Amino acid sequence: MVKICCIGAGYVGGPTMAVIAVKCPAIEVVVVDISKPRIDAWNSDTLPIYEPGLDEVVKACRGKNLFFSTDVEKHVAEADIIFVSVNTPTKTRGLGAGKAADLTYWESAARMIADVSKSDKIVVEKSTVPVKTAEAIEKILTHNSKGINYQILSNPEFLAEGTAIDDLFKPDRVLIGGRETPEGRKAVQALKEVYANWVPEENIITTNLWSAELSKLAANAFLAQRISSVNAMSALCEATGANVSEVSYAIGKDSRIGPKFLNASVGFGGSCFQKDILNLVYICECNGLPEVANYWKQVIKINDYQKSRFVNRVVSSMFNTVSGKKVAVLGFAFKKDTGDTRETPAIDVCKGLLGDKAQVSIYDPQVTEDQIQRDLAMNKFDWDHPMHLQPTSPSSVKQELDYQKIFNNMQKPAFVFDGRNVVNADKLREIGFIVYSIGKPLDAWLKDMPAIA
Ligand code: NAD
Repeated sequence: MVKICCIGAGYVGGPTMAVIAVKCPAIEVVVVDISKPRIDAWNSDTLPIYEPGLDEVVKACRGKNLFFSTDVEKHVAEADIIFVSVNTPTKTRGLGAGKAADLTYWESAARMIADVSKSDKIVVEKSTVPVKTAEAIEKILTHNSKGINYQILSNPEFLAEGTAIDDLFKPDRVLIGGRETPEGRKAVQALKEVYANWVPEENIITTNLWSAELSKLAANAFLAQRISSVNAMSALCEATGANVSEVSYAIGKDSRIGPKFLNASVGFGGSCFQKDILNLVYICECNGLPEVANYWKQVIKINDYQKSRFVNRVVSSMFNTVSGKKVAVLGFAFKKDTGDTRETPAIDVCKGLLGDKAQVSIYDPQVTEDQIQRDLAMNKFDWDHPMHLQPTSPSSVKQELDYQKIFNNMQKPAFVFDGRNVVNADKLREIGFIVYSIGKPLDAWLKDMPAIA
């Protein structure tokens, strides 16, 4: 029986390994983590992360060929294939701070593998890492190898939170990069055989190590760039009277462009896009390519611009101040069907409103009040003003909102600012709301109160 061990039981390690286990009954999969609460949660009825379909997959194989454990060293020592799926956040201090990937967790995982291994291993980079990380990892492992043979593979994960299980069941592609040596090719083949249990062969791409590492950063940069492109258009639409949904539809019909990822919004969030682009920018700078670095930096600048444009629109619409005004924020995670709040645009929006002394009540069915408090207390900016956070209890917002009732209870004029273009704006206008939808023709009120971006 092939034994797989995955280091890191997070948003990627947990779902990815659960799907491998459910699709490959002949493989034993153990997911290990240094965080006991995380492992306890994976072994409980309440999993540590929310993903549609994840519960069913975990329950189908947990205790059979899927295990979660804090005994990291034992399971690493016993494994044939080790996935490393630890976090790789942006460095906050030292060389490359604010841009480069922090590989502390990766390095300590690699050193531990070198310490405890007694048999040959295939070590798979599942985390998103800078190009050439495999080389560094290889050095750590081979310099401490005690005669053991290590093959490093890059197998970046392309799942999207909120649809992780679907994405893992039917991936557009699986990418495996390895050394172009006989041993490297053998290792690539071994990993390919795991995925071949459910992924059609033509969807399994094999490349050299560096192409695989760079493809992950490139994919996220291209995806984020589409969002920033349509968001940049949304500002121009508001200025000209064009409708961004109509523009998106029209350009998306061009088969060279395609319809996906063209929705205007308050901006992208999540733990990956910004981090990976900053990482790409840093790599370009280190390789003497400042023009390329600046090109990708602009994707993040537009994203920041879009978030501040949204806050400015809210504030300017209400006579240039929200001080003391009650603002209900519906949704806090970075997108639907996830409880993940890392880099969610809601943090910047709420902080912007709190900075102008609004009374903010926040609700998200997947996010706890504690998490929201922690996120808003984070020290990204130095806030001069005390917070006036009024957490809502989950039961106080129903799935279906009665907007007429809400309108009746609000001070007039009553506003709705839609950061995702999901409400039926015309219906709300009939009730009497002033509605702001990103990139759509502005209500007369909003035209008279231009946002100072
Ligand atoms: P995460 O923070 O949810 O999980 C990482 C886990 O690794 C944590 O539970 C942490 O305790 C554990 N860990 C850290 N060091 C360890 C060590 N030495 N030994 C054992 N456990 C250790 O992160 P994530 O969202 O799962 O992301 C993991 C990687 O995958 C990142 O590089 C990320 O960029 C990449 N990725 C994420 C997504 C996504 O949607 N979240 C998608 C594709 C790729």
